[in-house]
Amino acid sequence: MKTIGVYTSGGDAPGMNACIRSVVRTAIYHGFKVKGIQRGYAGMISGDIINLSRNSVANIIQRGGTFLKTARSEEFRTKEGRAEAYEQILKHEIDALVCIGGDGSYTGAGLFYEEFGIPCVGIPGTIDNDLFGTDYTIGYDTAVNTALDAIDRIRDTAHSHERVFIVEVMGRDAGFIALDVAIAGGAEAALIPEDLNDMEGLTQQFSRRDKRKKSFSIVVVAEGDEQGGALVLEKKLHELFPELKIRSTILGHVQRGGSPSARDRVLASRLGAAAIDALLAGETAICVGIVNNDVSYTPFAEAIGSHKSISPQMIELAKILAI
Ligand code: ATP
Repeated sequence: MKTIGVYTSGGDAPGMNACIRSVVRTAIYHGFKVKGIQRGYAGMISGDIINLSRNSVANIIQRGGTFLKTARSEEFRTKEGRAEAYEQILKHEIDALVCIGGDGSYTGAGLFYEEFGIPCVGIPGTIDNDLFGTDYTIGYDTAVNTALDAIDRIRDTAHSHERVFIVEVMGRDAGFIALDVAIAGGAEAALIPEDLNDMEGLTQQFSRRDKRKKSFSIVVVAEGDEQGGALVLEKKLHELFPELKIRSTILGHVQRGGSPSARDRVLASRLGAAAIDALLAGETAICVGIVNNDVSYTPFAEAIGSHKSISPQMIELAKILAI
């Protein structure tokens, strides 16, 4: 193994640059050459591949997004597409891959290994934190802090105008961002896909607003919640409580950008180095993660096939603190 190819794939996340930097520098430290594959699997197929030196990754640790760019590639889902990618991997003499992305990217890398025998290690990079095999994914902490900052601002208006504000946050099918943001932002409720009783709880809370002397509220809803997001929820609450002044805000893609937090930079740096260590140890078709503050390896099949569950204690805590 002489040359390692690194790429980012799927949605971008703050901290991906810090992770690429760590992969590149750790690999060079151990005597490897490193190539950057641009635009994920799309660039692997088109041969969009560049040499990376220690200087190529200077001054990027603080930047959001990914300087290698990222993409989704339908072509790579086909055997023909992957065969074209393999041609490029051979042409560029890449012996092993490091894939920074989500479970879709892991699936692609796992198939590529099965079909062509190119070793690959995955690194969890997504703001959603919904990947099994790691306590936290790269980008999650920054996204939570970005959403929290927005909620603190919205709280000023909610308080001044005595309104209910529904804030929709990202997270795809998971409620990790919503629950953390609700607890940290002192929200009245977090509506998340993992809790099917949360709407009932919220309507009970709202029915007792006068008794509780609540003049304003923040309700956080995960984009994947079964209620259908902020706008649908606003309509439902308006029908149930016509006397309330309710407004909705969908935070959207602002949560994906921005300078990564210190925690994300450290996580990305640890995981980038761990991926190279894993390749050196002969591991393949696994993803690295941090579990209980230690590096852990999880086979792709297990990471893709398992569900990361949200802590019931956290759900309970959010409810207790919102009495
Ligand atoms: P995010 O969590 O940000 O969505 P992801 O890695 O899960 O990240 P996907 O869009 O699901 O994002 O996958 C990224 C790319 O991985 C796809 O565009 C595709 O090229 C490849 N991929 C996903 N699933 C498969 C599959 N079943 N077979 C081959 N390639 C796949």
